[in-house]
Amino acid sequence: MSIISDSLKRIKPSPTIAVTQKARELRAAGKDVIGLGAGEPDFDTPDNIKNAAIQAIKDGDTKYTAVDGTPALKKAIIEKFKRENNLDFTVDQITVGTGGKQVLYNTFMATLNKGDEVIIPAPYWVSYPDMVLLAGGKPKIIKCDEKDGFKLTSKKLQKAISKKTKWLILNSPSNPTGAGYTKNEIEDLAKVLIKNKKIHILSDDIYEHIKYDNFNFFTIAQVSKLKDRTLTMNGVSKSYAMTGWRIGYAAGPKDMIKAIGKIQSQSTSNPSSVSQAAAVEALNGVQDFIQERSDAFKERRDFVVKSLNNIKGITCLTPNGAFYVFPSCKGLLNKKTKLKTDTDFVQKLLDKSNVAVVQGSAFGLDGYFRISYATSMENLQKAMDRIKSFCESLS
Ligand code: PLP
Repeated sequence: MSIISDSLKRIKPSPTIAVTQKARELRAAGKDVIGLGAGEPDFDTPDNIKNAAIQAIKDGDTKYTAVDGTPALKKAIIEKFKRENNLDFTVDQITVGTGGKQVLYNTFMATLNKGDEVIIPAPYWVSYPDMVLLAGGKPKIIKCDEKDGFKLTSKKLQKAISKKTKWLILNSPSNPTGAGYTKNEIEDLAKVLIKNKKIHILSDDIYEHIKYDNFNFFTIAQVSKLKDRTLTMNGVSKSYAMTGWRIGYAAGPKDMIKAIGKIQSQSTSNPSSVSQAAAVEALNGVQDFIQERSDAFKERRDFVVKSLNNIKGITCLTPNGAFYVFPSCKGLLNKKTKLKTDTDFVQKLLDKSNVAVVQGSAFGLDGYFRISYATSMENLQKAMDRIKSFCESLS
């Protein structure tokens, strides 16, 4: 009899982490691989944040903390929501976890019963369906079209709702497409959700600060009639280049926040004390570098989108946030190229041209691939040249 639990058998390891790992291994074996798979900023954590952590260590801030976050960090989070999103929360409406990922995991574990449905618009961040499955829920994947900017429409949302729907997940700007929902688009979805009173909304705002072309970020809890049913998740990983520090947080209804804390009390106990001190400085300290880094990302985005659209067989939308593009490779999947799927495409690209990207099917939409442009311009230039030569060699 297998030692592995049935619930674990329902899920697969993260495909994006797998690609990053494979690129790392190939590089260690001496291959000149360019990895465009990783979902983290290539910038370093700003010095004021590092110094706050060093100070915390020196001050002996090295013990267990309150289960779901220190009072100082909760205060900083409350102020962040007020300052940036015009949202009011009290301390008992805030939870802090070991990364946004753990906050999401805790949420599903705390709220899903067997068979509860979670609407997940595709393409989606790879972890959503597996977390839902692990918690005993049922992912209801709704494919969003390129012509809609890969975004969920109110019509599709309405159709996806059933008596068993417990959650809708929204992620804007999105991983993997970079698409951001406008205020109008969110209000359109909100109309459907206001009518369907049992549904809760999980808004994953982790890419809030990485946005371009004056895109106005709007989060669904700002629709007052939905605030009581929304869990707004965010974190310091992407905005403050703090992926390794592992701090994420969420704000929402008290009973839900309490339940999330209960799970945490029996798993990690609390997020790292030192990382929490660093996160306080991230949220309260100077914010100038966010814009500077977004400008650097924008330059890369423009370069990558333009380069991809110059390749025969590839088309690519211009996203308004995050650091990903999600180009189509459908024009290259045919008898002549001998490539049938996006997985064939990315595997051959890695084998022949040493560029690691992730197949769209890993995000729930076939015929595409994801590029993370959170790497140097030099790397991107090399990668774009290689992708172009590779695609030309196919025909
Ligand atoms: N949500 C999305 C859409 C992400 O892309 C990620 C990380 O890749 C996370 C949540 C989790 O981030 P973290 O656990 O580092 O806070």
